Amino acid sequence: LCSKTLFFTVRAVKHWNGLYMADFREVFAKAKHIAIITGAGVSAESGVPTFRGAGGFWRKWQAQELATPEAFARNPSRVWEFYHYRREVMLSKHPNPAHIAIAECERRLSKQGRSVVVITQNIDELHRKAGTKHLLEIHGSLFKTRCTNCGNVAANYKSPICPALAGKGLKCPCQQLNAEDGCNGLLRPHVVWFGEALDPDVLTEVEKELAICDLCLVVGTSSVVYPAAMFAPQVSARGVPVAEFNMEATPATNRFRFHFPGPCGTTLPPALARHQTEIIS
Ligand SMILES: [Zn+2]
Repeated sequence: LCSKTLFFTVRAVKHWNGLYMADFREVFAKAKHIAIITGAGVSAESGVPTFRGAGGFWRKWQAQELATPEAFARNPSRVWEFYHYRREVMLSKHPNPAHIAIAECERRLSKQGRSVVVITQNIDELHRKAGTKHLLEIHGSLFKTRCTNCGNVAANYKSPICPALAGKGLKCPCQQLNAEDGCNGLLRPHVVWFGEALDPDVLTEVEKELAICDLCLVVGTSSVVYPAAMFAPQVSARGVPVAEFNMEATPATNRFRFHFPGPCGTTLPPALARHQTEIIS
């Protein structure tokens, strides 16, 4: 490409994106129930490591080797050390402009009787940290534990999560089963591991939200890969507009109404900003 062609190409794309955004903003202004599906790309822009793909190692392991029920059965303390490390990493990570734009949008629209729900595969709670209230964490959370004996789920933000992770992992402090002997079950991270099914209660919630949404955003992930691929096509099939904000150029992208390529910390804030038709009380 000579520089002149490149210049005109860039200008044409910018112009086209501008029109496109105006079109999206019209749809956004009329939406009453917005479902936002978010993925790893949103966390990546906050510097959260995924431990997947090239270079994604913790010690000598990748997430796929430790985030499994088999790995936990073999060596719970090693798996806990991995999750302990991931929790500690999060102390230095902060919500980015995409997380903040989503939370701000929910806050603002709720005052107008409109709803925003975030359906995320991210386990780092950055959406919660940004102020998102209506959050469905389909892969669980780094900051929740679940008892392998009684199933009790508890929030846990301790740092470190226990003084000595070496040995036998964490024991359940709950006394749910029997007051006499307590539960004393082993705790595991409340996250969905490779080879495990999604929580049916969370899925039911997700289905409810998708059935009523009149605008769906897919942010920091692709609508053609799991888990967004489970959700976005059914919304689109109802005739509801789907807008993707991600770095990918996927073949199925043009099946959906909008695609805004680029870092979502850049593309999302103007898309979700207050529309001129919004009346703020
Ligand atoms: Zn228990």
